[in-house]
Amino acid sequence: STAIVWFRRDLRLADQPALSAACAAHERVLPVYIHAPHEEGAWAPGAASRCWLHHSLVDLQSQLREQGASLHVRRGDSLAVLRELVHATGATAVYWNRLYEPTAIARDSTVKAALREQGVEARSFNASLWCEPWQRETRQQAPYRVFTPFWRSLRTQLSVTAPSTRPSIHGLEVADGLPIDALELLPAIPWDSGLREAWRPGERGAREALEVFEDDAVTDYATARDLPARHGTSRLSPHLHFGEISPRQIHHALAARVSAIDARRRPDIEPFLRELGWREFAHHLLYHFPATPTANFDRRFDRFAWEADDNASLERWQQGRTGIPLVDAGMRELWHTGWMHNRVRMVVASFLCKNLRQHWHHGARWFWDTLVDADLANNTLGWQWVSGSGADAAPYFRVFNPVSQAQKFDAQGEYLRRWLPELRDASPPLLHEPWKDAALLKRSGYPAPMVDLGDSRAAALSAYQSMRGA
Ligand code: FAD
Repeated sequence: STAIVWFRRDLRLADQPALSAACAAHERVLPVYIHAPHEEGAWAPGAASRCWLHHSLVDLQSQLREQGASLHVRRGDSLAVLRELVHATGATAVYWNRLYEPTAIARDSTVKAALREQGVEARSFNASLWCEPWQRETRQQAPYRVFTPFWRSLRTQLSVTAPSTRPSIHGLEVADGLPIDALELLPAIPWDSGLREAWRPGERGAREALEVFEDDAVTDYATARDLPARHGTSRLSPHLHFGEISPRQIHHALAARVSAIDARRRPDIEPFLRELGWREFAHHLLYHFPATPTANFDRRFDRFAWEADDNASLERWQQGRTGIPLVDAGMRELWHTGWMHNRVRMVVASFLCKNLRQHWHHGARWFWDTLVDADLANNTLGWQWVSGSGADAAPYFRVFNPVSQAQKFDAQGEYLRRWLPELRDASPPLLHEPWKDAALLKRSGYPAPMVDLGDSRAAALSAYQSMRGA
């Protein structure tokens, strides 16, 4: 018998439940990728994600070819393409791994029902989360809204399980597949050289990133993770988003690595696992509160006095020309590499939502288009957390101070100098506050701050007080 494996954001061969199940139960397997951005509503992949996707598909194709199989690439309506392929191959089953965005859930339910009605077995699996979002609930049988109890409940049930290895695939070839280039995922104007230098998309790149992290970073993740100049975090986020690696594989590899280390010097991997816990929490929230990519989780924020949309301010923020060094360095890192360090993400987001009082939607959209790890669950949680409107959010009165954040986490200014070449000759303390030296601004061409940090903070707090009082 023949099964179709419908690849989506699970672009790997090992620990791939749909693929393993198909290979175990059927003689022949047709791996398929259907490009259908119109089915993702307002959240079709942004420009940076499309670049990543292109290279990840190329990697998947080359791995399948090494196994004597081939990825059948199509574009169109998913259901129509699957039906056509069922007809062409005589497949009796279609298997895939689940996605958790509201539009994907709706589409997949329709596809499942339609295939079953046609007498085709349609089965979905969990490939990307430790735990399905609907499997955790509070004692009151409600979804969690606070991270710590969510994590406590998940953590006690996490065990290290060995992920499955890649199955041997008896592939099937079908006519009319497209070359990956035909999906036109790469930009027409090649602005993506920075992305290509910074990353190796695909399952092999994911494994490589994990190995680098195991070797260099896992031992001092708890302290190094806050320093943007260091390669102190895993940089696994785009690989996780595209399903090139799973949390189960990461957990298993780290547990094996640290257990080999002398118990007295064994690094604590809990702080890192906890970050993966935030990812699970973000998916839990998106599943239970599907309107939150655009609607405030805390509805009091519907009354918040945002400033009128201001394209000029927004552009300065996007281009890293605000005159606040840590904000500008982060925005330029994002533009150049498609990624930004987590601490800096919090700082640039706080600056946009609080100091400029521009609606968090604008920031979330820009991130969506420019991040290689743009992920609806994580991005929504991040923006709502910083703006104060989220579940378990940072209290609104905690406005990040980009100067003291830089002084604390980039004391020597290494990160600032890396991304702000015009300030390369400056050193702290002036590098952290270049506006204190008019000659430096003049010489370097670096802009004066677009807002006064103290005044804009006070204005944000007062807008917040009015919202609460209203
Ligand atoms: P590590 O520190 O090595 O963490 C390991 C993994 O845990 C990450 O790869 C990620 O999958 C997960 N993780 C870590 N922190 C968080 C978090 N706060 N929330 C959810 N998951 C987390 N992350 C995205 O993957 N996609 C996004 O679109 C995204 N948008 C964000 C927007 C804002 C405003 C903020 C403040 C954060 C956002 N994050 C997002 C979360 C976080 O910044 C990134 O996951 C992290 O920087 C990725 O780097 P890393 O893989 O080296 O992380």
